[in-house]
Amino acid sequence: MESFVACEGCDQLYRHRPLARGEKAICQQCGTRLYGSSIDSLERTLALNLAALALFFVANVMLFLHVSLEGHAQSNRIYSGVYELAAFDYMPLAVLILFTTMLAPLVKILVTLYAVSSALMGRRLPGVAGAMRAAELLSTWSMLEVYLLAVIVAIGKLSQMATVDLRIGSYAFFALILVSTWANSALETEAVWSRLEESP
Ligand SMILES: [Zn+2]
Repeated sequence: MESFVACEGCDQLYRHRPLARGEKAICQQCGTRLYGSSIDSLERTLALNLAALALFFVANVMLFLHVSLEGHAQSNRIYSGVYELAAFDYMPLAVLILFTTMLAPLVKILVTLYAVSSALMGRRLPGVAGAMRAAELLSTWSMLEVYLLAVIVAIGKLSQMATVDLRIGSYAFFALILVSTWANSALETEAVWSRLEESP
């Protein structure tokens, strides 16, 4: 059966034809990319997600902030906030933050790594189609940027009354946001799907 693709830019319809690796189909009217991918999109996605995974661990394991006020000093990690919220009976909020800033980003990195490795190896690993779908779904639930905004506002407020120092975890967190945004733009889902369809 013949299949068609519509241009996202101008709705022009085109007949779908198979492309060689690294080839792209471009709309003749408006220049939008229809399908196809860069030659190294899988390798780049793999490298960037590995970097994101390393940064995720540094951001979560190392200290994030050091706050001192009138002789009292306290160091915090990212999950300290979640823990405090839960301790003060803000359970739904604690769960939401835990999910959107820790679980969703971590699982998204892991399932993307799994799907991209499977495509690069040219082998359909078990559950890989589900992993790919989960990666797409989790993109909407991964909200590191929102958390960053909250952190900046909180630091701004806190620094008016206390001395606030950023620790290595916060630098890793800022780097994680940059790298994961870059990793998202490197991921060309069709490249993964088409490689998996060719694989045994
Ligand atoms: Zn177009």
